[in-house]
Amino acid sequence: MILRMSSLFVRTLREDPADAEVPSHRLLVRAGYIRRAAPGIYTWLPLGLKVLRKIEGIIREEMDGIGAQELSFPALLPKEPYEATNRWTEYGDGIFRLKDRKGADYLLGPTHEEMFTLVVKDLYSSYKDLPLSIYQIQTKYRDEARPRAGLLRGREFVMKDSYSFDVDDAGLDASYQAHRDAYIRIFDRLGFEYVIVKATSGAMGGSKSEEFLAKAAVGEDTYVRCTKCDYAANVEAVQVAPPTPVAYDDAPAAHAEQTPDTPTIESLVDHLNDKFPREDRPWTAGDTLKNVLVMFKHPDGTREPVAIGLPGDREVDQKRLEGQMEPTEVEPFDEAEFKKHPSLVKGYIGPGVLGEKNATGIRYLVDPRIVEGTRWVTGADVDGSHVIDLVAGRDFTPDGTIEAAEVRDGDPCPNCDGGVLESARGIEMGHIFQLGRKYADALDLKVLDENGKLVTVTMGSYGVGPSRAVAAIAEGTLDEVGLCWPREVAPADVHLVAAGKDEHVLAAAERIAHELSSNGIDVLYDDRLGKISPGVKFKDAELIGVPTIVVVGKGLAADGTIEVKDRASGASEQVHADQVVDHVVRLVRA
Ligand code: ATP
Ligand code: MG
Repeated sequence: MILRMSSLFVRTLREDPADAEVPSHRLLVRAGYIRRAAPGIYTWLPLGLKVLRKIEGIIREEMDGIGAQELSFPALLPKEPYEATNRWTEYGDGIFRLKDRKGADYLLGPTHEEMFTLVVKDLYSSYKDLPLSIYQIQTKYRDEARPRAGLLRGREFVMKDSYSFDVDDAGLDASYQAHRDAYIRIFDRLGFEYVIVKATSGAMGGSKSEEFLAKAAVGEDTYVRCTKCDYAANVEAVQVAPPTPVAYDDAPAAHAEQTPDTPTIESLVDHLNDKFPREDRPWTAGDTLKNVLVMFKHPDGTREPVAIGLPGDREVDQKRLEGQMEPTEVEPFDEAEFKKHPSLVKGYIGPGVLGEKNATGIRYLVDPRIVEGTRWVTGADVDGSHVIDLVAGRDFTPDGTIEAAEVRDGDPCPNCDGGVLESARGIEMGHIFQLGRKYADALDLKVLDENGKLVTVTMGSYGVGPSRAVAAIAEGTLDEVGLCWPREVAPADVHLVAAGKDEHVLAAAERIAHELSSNGIDVLYDDRLGKISPGVKFKDAELIGVPTIVVVGKGLAADGTIEVKDRASGASEQVHADQVVDHVVRLVRA
């Protein structure tokens, strides 16, 4: 195939688009791959579409390779199946809803568990039909709160979603493992650095769940890895190993003390060390129990105030909290709310008003480190006063625990002895999880087992984002001057530049383009005449980022050579015109 720059539907831009926050977004727009249509919604131009299709092709091959079969659902979906699983409500503002002319409700599919479950229910009825894996590569719609970074977080985006159907748990394990292996092959071929981490299963429900994250500083996800064992998890999914309860028989009785002007943890710790020094060591922020109020906004629109108790040396991590509570959202607890609860004394809130049979009726959830027998300094619910030696399990009982405290570098690994956690950022590229029977139960998907008994089918769900992958690969490979595609996903194999207007140059370039093409090589051929200087052509080639750049120019007349340049390393060699086609074919097929 030959794509001619003289007629290709592309305009490269020298200026960065004003709304682009990350380098991949800037360069994909400047190099003429995508155009913005609306916030989080993009048009694919020919070059961009080629990269997207290549990524989809890799995913398709690997899915077909594990025996999954491709089908395609509509994006415009009826409300009823999503009502049956409660997701019509749970998605809240997160989906696009619309009505037809008769007033019936529809949505644009954010993900298709319901539709897959129902189609299997329609067609299959026996264990003999299973296992089954089916998938689609299709456009999804989510009204994301913060569409961001171009294709990385779109409101319209492409997803490959597959689903497995098995008659028992062992079958589900095998289907999950097959998908996991296929994902490893996909991500190896896509050519970026990734990690597989434990994940929460979010709005989907279900149990075992892992994410494939591309390592990237611009990523919105934070994950941790253990320095000693193979533990790796999205911070949202980290479960702190709770300490063993401590004996408190000898603990002194809790005593309220005057601690004027100590509304912050720092001022409190200073005051304690000044007025109530410990004998063994100084007080630290970790000795205090701080209580943070938040508002849970449930999917049905109701709001619930919740207090979160955590060691004073840690902050509440909003993403972690939301990850635990999904689909519930978390909002700040504002002044108006404090007015409704006069017993909450800002800066001095303690388990007194929050603990068991509390006066406020506010649910009190604590960090898992606050186990029975641990001793705390915390608010006395009176302005300028704190309680010392307050013992968990003796002096207060929370309503439950929650993983909401920030995870920090150096925290102990929850999976091994002696390992510590270190964090990094990544972009979620794929997510696989064992849904179990949640959807089959809700939509009544059952088959007859070997004994003629009806059993509920168990399911897995496996997503990967080809459009996000375009941006993530660009982000991971670009340099100061432009994009830099790995060979497997590049929009062409070779960028051939005719540098100069000399007839010999043009004739040689034309011949090379045809010979490469007849060898099955995809050529992006810069055949532009007129005012386009060689310098402009070189700049465009660097910006567009095809992995091999071939320049037919001055060398041809001088000594019969042509320049072959590697876009990523910049390394270049002079190859004789007679050998250049063979040389490039070898490079591309290597
Ligand atoms: P995120 O946490 O980034 O919002 P998610 O957990 O909601 O993603 P899934 O429902 O697991 O995403 O979707 C499967 C895959 O679809 C993701 O791994 C990602 O590759 C892709 N994806 C999800 N949301 C978007 C989006 N807004 N834009 C582009 N790709 C997306
Ligand atoms: Mg996910």
